[in-house]
Amino acid sequence: MAFVTSEQMLLKADKEGYAVGAFNVENMEMVMAVIKACEELSAPAILQTTPSTVKYAGLDMYLANVAEAAKKASVPIALHLDHGDSFELAMQALRTGYTSIMIDGSKLPFEENIALSKAVADACRPSGIPVEAELGKVGGKEDDMNCDDPGYTDPADAKRFVEETGISSLAVAIGTAHGIYKGEPKLDFDRLSEIRKVVNIPLVLHGASGVPDESVRECIRRGISKVNFATELRIAYSDGIKSFLKDNPDAFDPKKYCKVGMDKVTELVKNKIKVCGSNGKA
Ligand SMILES: [Zn+2]
Repeated sequence: MAFVTSEQMLLKADKEGYAVGAFNVENMEMVMAVIKACEELSAPAILQTTPSTVKYAGLDMYLANVAEAAKKASVPIALHLDHGDSFELAMQALRTGYTSIMIDGSKLPFEENIALSKAVADACRPSGIPVEAELGKVGGKEDDMNCDDPGYTDPADAKRFVEETGISSLAVAIGTAHGIYKGEPKLDFDRLSEIRKVVNIPLVLHGASGVPDESVRECIRRGISKVNFATELRIAYSDGIKSFLKDNPDAFDPKKYCKVGMDKVTELVKNKIKVCGSNGKA
């Protein structure tokens, strides 16, 4: 169908009360597996890569892979830079052809986060590429990111942040964490509703791997329009391959064992699409 930006996707989700699933991919197999799930459920989707993923194979490799797969797909697909950690990387992603960019200045002091997020939003605007930024700190560990000191998003700060930066979507910290949870996460739903009242751009939930489905649905009811899933996809892909190789220790053809990992990813992504309510929304 089309390789698109995330902008219209998220505005439509925001208006109609569902969320677009944003799925972290690491390789060609995961790209194919995610898109297959989206096609089977007629769901729009965002595929995304973190800086450490970009380091693994390069922005241009992911762009070529996802753009080609998106052209052939029956649903709209965007490619997003997840947790862009510098102005330079954000610009490289923009020049490479990513159709959605996150700049994560959430570890910086408030004013510096505003300045960095605004600079990226200003630079991306002429090309029509939407920018996501983050305010408050999502805790936990993912790739090279590590946050031992999570901080919730303050609604009044969020309002000012959005007005001054001109970003297209805002990632909020309401108690989710990256990586694997030790206990059940306690989410601050009321805080999310307060943010929603004063911020009129799409809101993004990070760290949704391991959050109970019902809690993710409650976040969507209260105004989340993009939900990120990373850790669970990596686990599904690896578990599929591990179990196949355990049963078939002599297997040596990647086409055989990767297929099992892909099937696990497709199954997981279909479940997440249903939690997000984006099935049938392509
Ligand atoms: Zn994240």
